[in-house]
Amino acid sequence: MNLDYIIVGLGLAGIAFAEELTKNNKTFVVFEDNSQNSSLVAGGMYNPVVLKRFTPVWNAQEQLDIALPFYKMLEKKMQKKYDFPMDIYRVFKSIEEQNNWYEASGKKLLQDYMEVPVLANQNQSVSAPLGYGKLKNTGRIDVNTLAKDYRNYLQNKNKLIEECFDYADLKIAKEEIVYKNIKAKNIVFCEGFGLQQNPYFNYLPMKEAKGELITIHAPNLKVDFLIKSAVFVMPLGGGNYKVGATFNWKDKTKNPTEEGKKELVEKLNTVINCDYKIINHVAGIRPTVKDRRPLVGKHPKYKNLAILNGLGTRGVMIAPTMANKLFQYIENAKALEQEIDSKRFAKYFTQN
Ligand SMILES: Cc1cc2nc3c(=O)[nH]c(=O)nc-3n(C[C@H](O)[C@H](O)[C@H](O)COP(=O)(O)OP(=O)(O)OC[C@H]3O[C@@H](n4cnc5c(N)ncnc54)[C@H](O)[C@@H]3O)c2cc1C
Repeated sequence: MNLDYIIVGLGLAGIAFAEELTKNNKTFVVFEDNSQNSSLVAGGMYNPVVLKRFTPVWNAQEQLDIALPFYKMLEKKMQKKYDFPMDIYRVFKSIEEQNNWYEASGKKLLQDYMEVPVLANQNQSVSAPLGYGKLKNTGRIDVNTLAKDYRNYLQNKNKLIEECFDYADLKIAKEEIVYKNIKAKNIVFCEGFGLQQNPYFNYLPMKEAKGELITIHAPNLKVDFLIKSAVFVMPLGGGNYKVGATFNWKDKTKNPTEEGKKELVEKLNTVINCDYKIINHVAGIRPTVKDRRPLVGKHPKYKNLAILNGLGTRGVMIAPTMANKLFQYIENAKALEQEIDSKRFAKYFTQN
C-alpha cells in the first residue's frame, strides 16, 4: 500500500489532522489501539476566558474562529450534533472577584464573552451567595460521540487499523517510511500521553495531568448552564450532569480512583445541595507540556516523522488550528511559530 500519510492515534489531534488530509486530497491510514482516552473522557468545554484569573486564553480567538466551523463541518459530514452552545456561570467566591470580573469584562478580547452585571442566584439547589458572572458564546463539544463516530467513519472507508503501532517495525528512508506492508511519505504521531512510548519523540518534556470526572443524575438541579465553582457542573440533558475535573500529576494510569471520586464528591457538595446519584466515573491523562504550549513539528533528524501533541487542557479549541499549521508546515514549508514548534526542545534531543 502506497500512501501520503500514516497517522498514529485518533483522539482530537488525529481527527483534526485526518480532516486536513481529507480536505487536501491526501491518502492516509490511522492506527488506533485504545491505549489512551483523553479525548473519550474530555468535558469538551470551549471557553476563551481563564476562569481563575479572568484573562484571555492563549490565542483563543484565532483558535475559536477555526474550531467552531470545524465542528460544524463535522456535524454536517456525520449528520449528528456535537456542538452544544452553553453559557458558563462562574460562581464568585468574594467581593474582590466580583470587582475583578467588572474590570476584566471591559477589556477588548473579553467583552464579547463576559457579561457585565453580576447575576443573583435564583436556584435553591445551587450554593452561590455572591452570585455569578455570566460567560456567553461558550459551549461544549461532545467529543466522546464525535471520536466514536469518526472511528466508524474511517473504518467504513478502510482507513482505520485498530492495532498498536509498533515503533520497532518502522523503517525510515530518505523519501519515505515503511511500516509492514505500508509505504508512506510522512508519518504523524498523535498519541497523546502515549508519546511516552515513542522512541522518536519521547525526549519532549510532557508534564501530563491525570483528570477524573463523574456523571451524576440530579433531576432536581434543573440548570441549563454550566456552573463553574470548586468543580464544574455541566448539563448533559435528562437530569444528568458531568462533574469535574481533578488534576493529578503523579498517577500515570487512566483508571478512575476512589480518591478522585471522593475529591469530586466533596467539592460538588459545596456547589449543589440537592440529591444526586453517581452514574459514571471516568479518567484520562491530559497531554500537557512543561511550557503549556502544543508540540507541533518534525523530528530533529528524520524529516518525514512529525508530531501533533501537547493539546493539554484545551484540545477542543486548539486541535484544528494546530493540525492546519502542521499540514502547512509539512506540505508548503510554512514556518511554525517558535512557541508551538517542537524544535524549542531540541536541547533535550540526544538519541536516534
Ligand atoms: C478529565 C479530562 C477533562 C478534560 N476536559 C476538557 C475540556 O473540557 N475541554 C477541552 O478542550 N479539553 C479537555 N480535556 C483535554 C483534552 O481531552 C485533550 O486536550 C485532548 O483530548 C488530547 O487529544 P489527543 O488526540 O492529543 O490525545 P488522546 O485523546 O489521548 O488521543 C491519543 C490517541 O492515540 C492512541 N495511541 C497512542 N499510542 C498509540 C499507538 N502506539 N498505536 C495506536 N494508537 C495509539 C490512543 O489510544 C489515543 O486514542 C480534558 C482531559 C481530561 C483527561
